Amino acid sequence: MHQLTLAEIARGLADKKFSSEELTKVLLARITQLDPQLNSFISLTEELALEQAKAADARRANGESGALLGAPIAHKDLFCTQGIRTSCGSKMLDNFKAPYDATVVSKLAAAGTVTLGKTNMDEFAMGSANESSWYGAVKNPWNLEHVPGGSSGGSAAAVAARLLPAATATDTGGSIRQPAAFTNLTGLKPTYGRVSRWGMIAYASSLDQGGPLARTAEDCAILLQGMAGFDPNDSTSIDEPVPDYAAGLNGSLQGLRIGVPKEYFGAGLDPRIADLIQNSIKELQKLGAVIKEISLPNMQHAIPAYYVIAPAEASSNLSRFDGVRFGHRCEDPKNLEDLYKRSRGEGFGAEVQRRIMVGAYALSAGYYDAYYLKAQKIRRLVKNDFMAAFNEVDIILGPTTPNPAWKLGAKNSDPVAAYLEDVYTITANLAGLPGLSMPAGFVDGLPVGVQLLAPYFQEGRLLNVAHQYQLHTDWHTRTPTGF
Ligand code: GLN
Repeated sequence: MHQLTLAEIARGLADKKFSSEELTKVLLARITQLDPQLNSFISLTEELALEQAKAADARRANGESGALLGAPIAHKDLFCTQGIRTSCGSKMLDNFKAPYDATVVSKLAAAGTVTLGKTNMDEFAMGSANESSWYGAVKNPWNLEHVPGGSSGGSAAAVAARLLPAATATDTGGSIRQPAAFTNLTGLKPTYGRVSRWGMIAYASSLDQGGPLARTAEDCAILLQGMAGFDPNDSTSIDEPVPDYAAGLNGSLQGLRIGVPKEYFGAGLDPRIADLIQNSIKELQKLGAVIKEISLPNMQHAIPAYYVIAPAEASSNLSRFDGVRFGHRCEDPKNLEDLYKRSRGEGFGAEVQRRIMVGAYALSAGYYDAYYLKAQKIRRLVKNDFMAAFNEVDIILGPTTPNPAWKLGAKNSDPVAAYLEDVYTITANLAGLPGLSMPAGFVDGLPVGVQLLAPYFQEGRLLNVAHQYQLHTDWHTRTPTGF
């Protein structure tokens, strides 16, 4: 039962082959048995899950239907869940029970999903390896000595290990697409504003976006359907109609114009990944796509710009954690300044502190123009590159990451080495564009992802291309040994 996709679960529930309660019990037992190897969950919500499963079964018995009615999922632990610890992977929020549900959580609950738990993540979503979590690193089910990617490493490892069919995640600079690539999953970062950020603990507000992590494009379509849509509680949420994503999966790729940026195949790319990307291009050509070389000339400036803008926004967002209103508070503060300093010094880990300092520095009066303003100008140039490219092509294709998942600890002493691994993903966040990563093969037994980018609000196009590719390839069906 644990091998079933969301689409198969929906059919099984509709055909009364099993109940949501039965399925939920199987998956909870599997998590208890296997997760100690992976550490992909911060909290399990067994009672809530069984309650929601029974309620979903009752709704079906009353004649209701729906692709998510009775579907077990988990939420990345930065989506606020009422009355349930919402830690953001940080000691700062270890004692924080959210007083309300995030919009994504309440929308999915209304659609009938069953929440099995809250997944592990890099602290405040800062990282690419899930090693900055206060709850410990997450292991990659494809090789337990390797990282699963981050910051949504818990959601990715759990879905890849078949502990559940799909999970929510967020992507500020790649945190859905990169862990998807590292664990052989399909992950979609929607257009900025497509999915509400209300109740999603902020890292860098102008870049953050929630989205689905699953094994197939079809399942991403199902989960995104439940997450997307206008929310008056989020002032950057966009009031655009949400298409029927599942209905759009079967469009023909005949004549689809795929742009392949020449800058993507530079020296930093593992040549074995380059070969797998070429294979995926050939597959899509067989389905009727036409390939065109394009250029994204400002791509080389994206990492420095992102690593100014994201920490700048983080330094502002994280000022709310002051030891006064919620979160960690130090023992016996001598005065207010001591309370602030020690609560934040004790509550935040090293990577979070580093980024707060970098961000505060970049925003300070003497350096604002030199760093923050310049980074914002680069951001516009990156966006302009994409706008020019999308005049010529329908989607852009390339690797999701320059290398496969690295060994646990391999980049701990050199944060910049980890930042450089984000080279292919962060441009979509800077421009606000939708992006998807899907399985494209293996290098040394570790999964490799191919990334597709599309114009604003063309999530449906990405899902359509990925679904057609998955009908003709079987990389996404491979299961890690031992799971
Ligand atoms: N690796 C990037 C960072 O550390 C992206 C993280 C994310 O998307 N949340 O900022």
